[in-house]
Amino acid sequence: MRETVTAPDDAKIRQSVKPVICYNVDQLPPYDSDFYENLRPTMVKVSETLVNPRDASTFEVSSGQVFRINSVEGSQVGDLNLWNAHNLEERFFSGKTRQLHASHVTTGDRLWSSLPGLRPMATIIHDTLEWYGWDEDGGGVHDVIGTRCDPYTNHMLHGVDYHYCCHSNLSRALSAKTGLPVTEAELHIHDVLNVFMCTGFTLDTHQYFMKASPVRPGDYIEFFAEIDLLGALSACPGGNCGSSHSDDETTCYPLLVEIYQPDPVLLENWSSAKLNAYSRSHGLS
Ligand SMILES: [Zn+2]
Repeated sequence: MRETVTAPDDAKIRQSVKPVICYNVDQLPPYDSDFYENLRPTMVKVSETLVNPRDASTFEVSSGQVFRINSVEGSQVGDLNLWNAHNLEERFFSGKTRQLHASHVTTGDRLWSSLPGLRPMATIIHDTLEWYGWDEDGGGVHDVIGTRCDPYTNHMLHGVDYHYCCHSNLSRALSAKTGLPVTEAELHIHDVLNVFMCTGFTLDTHQYFMKASPVRPGDYIEFFAEIDLLGALSACPGGNCGSSHSDDETTCYPLLVEIYQPDPVLLENWSSAKLNAYSRSHGLS
């Protein structure tokens, strides 16, 4: 029988100490709203990639360009991976992004890269769902708390092989782009930005929940590339993630990625994000 644990006499006191924000981000360069807002009216579209439902596509963005993820045809969420275009080892770090900003991101937040790079890969410069904020269930959109739907968890929970989870979609797309075998490509797939996805933790049990995304065709989120990027976006088999995922039950829609070039004159005094300056000695001389 399970041994019972009794609360100490001062349990209430211990629980009621004030929370402290883990990371004081005052030292980070502030979001330069004027700089990004001035770029936006000058942007010229240079390419676009349609991501088919239950599939993923890759796209490249040069530093100083902007990429926009658009909802088209129907309410659909997307799972985004980002890499340094010249080094797959430097990838989006959802955990640190969550710690530095919040569980869900929007305009003004940055997407940070993995250690040891730890630099902004992209900055969110416009988000038509910014109005959503936090709902009464504690949910928000564009989460960096979920990982990505994957066939391993699905096999563990349901005993079936489903091949069109975001993890597999992203693996196939990266394999096609790089020529790596899919089993090697999948090792580069990482925790995502859940674009347009509405999620949170339940207020009673703190379990991860999802609810139908508020995204509608015409909505978009826009990112400024702070370094040269390789991106991959999966149109999740969960569709708007209002019911199930990791199956073919839900209606799914494509997502459209557009790449824009702002006026280069406005970028003359701007430079690409630098790698983190920590010495990497880790206490050894
Ligand atoms: Zn998914």
